[in-house]
Amino acid sequence: MAFTQKVISMYKDATVAEINEVMEKAWKAFHLYRKLSIRQRAALMRAIATGLDQSPDALIQTAMQETNLPEARLRNEKARTVFQLNSYADACERGEWLEARIDTANPDRNPPKPDIRKMLVPLGPVVVFGASNFPFAYSTAGGDTACALAAGCPVIVKAHPAHPDTSEIVAGIIHEAVKQQQLPEAIFAHVHGASFEVGKALVTHPYTKAVGFTGSYLGGKALFDWANQRKEPIPVFAEMGSINPVWLLPGKLQQSATDIAKMYAGSITLGVGQFCTNPGLIIGVEGEPLQQFITALGNEIRQIAPGTMLHPGIAKAYEEKKSTALGQQEVSTVAKSATAPAANQGVPVIASATGKAFLNNPVLHQEVFGPYSLVIRCADAAEMLQVAEKIEGQLTATLMATEQDMLDNDDLVEAVKNICGRFILNSVPTGVEVCLAMQHGGPFPASTDGRFTSVGADGIKRFARPVSFQGWPDSLLPAELKNGNPLGIWRTVNNEVTKNTL
Ligand code: NAP
Repeated sequence: MAFTQKVISMYKDATVAEINEVMEKAWKAFHLYRKLSIRQRAALMRAIATGLDQSPDALIQTAMQETNLPEARLRNEKARTVFQLNSYADACERGEWLEARIDTANPDRNPPKPDIRKMLVPLGPVVVFGASNFPFAYSTAGGDTACALAAGCPVIVKAHPAHPDTSEIVAGIIHEAVKQQQLPEAIFAHVHGASFEVGKALVTHPYTKAVGFTGSYLGGKALFDWANQRKEPIPVFAEMGSINPVWLLPGKLQQSATDIAKMYAGSITLGVGQFCTNPGLIIGVEGEPLQQFITALGNEIRQIAPGTMLHPGIAKAYEEKKSTALGQQEVSTVAKSATAPAANQGVPVIASATGKAFLNNPVLHQEVFGPYSLVIRCADAAEMLQVAEKIEGQLTATLMATEQDMLDNDDLVEAVKNICGRFILNSVPTGVEVCLAMQHGGPFPASTDGRFTSVGADGIKRFARPVSFQGWPDSLLPAELKNGNPLGIWRTVNNEVTKNTL
């Protein structure tokens, strides 16, 4: 990629010997870090949040230079990352994620029932790969790092070669926080690598116990396959691309085709379309209201100027994937931006195809990462349902529908629920709230394990596994499971959720 030269000149690829050293240190640090209380882990996360919050403007300037993202967007993303760290620290301390369960003994039962207590414990060192489009929130001190630290796992970040300087500055903030909390230095490590060999060496290292990844399908699947080919396979939580389908139901379309088109023109082109939640597919039933929508969307798109993309590699990939999609039989261009693009700019484009063409051509199901969306014109409601049944797993799916539309199309509602992680009604998929109820992750290929989320504090559970303690005296039990509940966490005691002592 275009940044390889910079990375090679400024930050050399980590060698196998260096990776071995980093992993050995992380493994040793794990033995100490996993014993820290949830309060100490939360304190570390808050120290990182404070460091990031108070970072000098140079961080934003560096990120602007490396990513072409505008200042306001980067400031917002930094604030979101600070919030993420603080809110996951709060959740870490509240302890619901530990899933503490206590079933007390019953010696009078025949056979006697033992005392059994269960909680989640950390997996071990976690390797984190961030994405180029979120240099803060899904990168060095992003969601995966925060979740792994909360779970009690040391973190090794592979810097994204598209923003190595930004990553280096953020890594410095994390190192400083670790030092300030007087914790072992190797709880956090940061390595560079422009070649896939660095990623492979990290994923296949015996001391790596889990991987967090945000990026393309090809990248995530490569790491997932390496992890599964290991002598000891390990979990890879890869959040990958998605086309985030949107169904326009007839009642809603009849009511507000033009308003929906305006709303969607904004969502499709937000951040030059460089969001994993970008709506890349819009599905409706052929007819006057759909034509009105397509015309209005085309009019909007013509007025939106191209924007500079994250890096030349992403701009090139957008051009190639867009050309491939537009080159498919039965795909026609509806509209493109009326403004000519400068170098590395992504041109907003809307295309259209029939439902039949979509059903018969898997190329049309692929993500075109950028300001592009394909409108599918179905012959009837039955074909809309067929489309829903054929689409692969998605991060999000949206219905634009009236209440009556929902009641009239319950098969479609069920089919759509089956393929997505977040099911949106009458809104746009771009914008992912950081909160406990958020699900960011969907059935494969949206992510490698649709049972988990990468946004919201439930993401901590990805990096932990359950252990049952049977017959342990109170004095030897972990604090989380002691009779007195010294950490004051929520626990399920004999099937009742409570903070009470036993
Ligand atoms: P990317 O090219 O997959 O890069 C992500 C990271 O993975 C980089 O560090 C990259 O290193 C590494 N990587 C990629 N392919 C690899 C391979 N075969 N072997 C080893 N390492 C590999 O993704 P991106 O271009 O930064 O981001 C854009 C993509 O991310 C889009 O598809 C978007 O939808 C997706 N995304 C998903 C989410 C989500 O939450 N699901 C969020 C944001 C973005 P190199 O740079 O050295 O290749």
